[in-house]
Amino acid sequence: MNADATALRAEFPLLAAAPELHYLDSAATSQIHRSALDAVLHHETTSRANVSRGTYRLAEAADLAYENARRSVARFLNAASADEIVFTSGATASLNLVAHAFGNTLQAGDRVLISEAEHHSNFVPWQMLRDRIGIDLAVIPVTADGRLDLAQLSERMGSRCRLVALTHCSNVTGEWTDVDTVVAAAHQVGARVLLDGAQAVPHGPQDVRALGVDFYAFSGHKCFGPGAIGVLWGRQKLLAAMPPFLGGGGMIGEVTPTRSTWAEPPHRFEAGTPPIAQAVGLGAALDWMLSLPWPAIHAREKALCQALIEGLKRIPDLRLLGIDTTTSNSKRAPIVSFDIPGLHPHDICQVLDAHHLALRGGHHCAQPLLAALGVEGCTRASIALYNDTADIDALLAALDVARRELT
Ligand code: PLP
Repeated sequence: MNADATALRAEFPLLAAAPELHYLDSAATSQIHRSALDAVLHHETTSRANVSRGTYRLAEAADLAYENARRSVARFLNAASADEIVFTSGATASLNLVAHAFGNTLQAGDRVLISEAEHHSNFVPWQMLRDRIGIDLAVIPVTADGRLDLAQLSERMGSRCRLVALTHCSNVTGEWTDVDTVVAAAHQVGARVLLDGAQAVPHGPQDVRALGVDFYAFSGHKCFGPGAIGVLWGRQKLLAAMPPFLGGGGMIGEVTPTRSTWAEPPHRFEAGTPPIAQAVGLGAALDWMLSLPWPAIHAREKALCQALIEGLKRIPDLRLLGIDTTTSNSKRAPIVSFDIPGLHPHDICQVLDAHHLALRGGHHCAQPLLAALGVEGCTRASIALYNDTADIDALLAALDVARRELT
């Protein structure tokens, strides 16, 4: 398998059709890989039927494709069993699922610990749970450079902590969470650990058993798969002890006019017709990712990230948000956010767009983190496996133009 960015870029139909495009917004949505598109087309034109319902051959083909996709996800995460994989509509839905289903096993006064660095989708569901049943929601602060202040972990966890729900990797600073430290501390007080892997999974397969966590959530559209599909992985025993979130077809054992019983996981958590073709496409994208030479890709992503940071540091007044990995050994995903005082991120992004650069400016659904960093918004460049030095060079050159045009 060729790890060369030009060869990889050619495997993404949108990028292949737009050679002038410098796509640096993969943290918002990555481009979709050809294997995922092919799998969706193949499924929809050969095996389209509902799942877990029909006994005719076409329905059995749909069942097989859907359950094979579940097995692909299980391989990608090194899960103990495909039954631990719940398909959802995205990371947000997966996090809400845990907040409702696991949340319903909590008592008023039980603590859930999150951090200031969370995406809103790992903030708001817990605030809603707090308002609904009276959990005690505690927050790990970040340091001045946006890192989780894990020195405060034990104190913030307290003795009634039942769940620590953290991002695996920040969508603003690219910082990876020190999972070993979190898992050791949480499990010592009997708390479970949920990781929001939305920004981790685009940078390679994950091993939930080696991580030692209890729940893991991610979205398909950020890891080269289709939109409207996501995953919740949970340990089998935990899923089996959780009540359902949504009710409807497919998630029941038996329904009488007065009561219902539940199917076993994962179907208990997949009420209604699931996103079947999207799951099939995601399975293909993850199979493709599993075939890639990740050490070479990580080396290129890191070199691009370092070159970008070096270039940004030469821009007068520009403030990098988060750790400077050109001077520290910290691990980061290739996500770099910055602020140029006096220039609005939306204006910067519009000038960049005129130079065929796609970047996101705004609060990145992380308002608590941005507030802690002292900014209302920032501009973010997020690098993926199809980016190359030409993208970084184009960004640095266009930022020069933006500064001249906007000041
Ligand atoms: N968590 C993180 C860290 C994210 O970056 C995002 C999206 O940007 C999400 C969760 C939510 O993902 P989705 O909108 O696909 O549900």
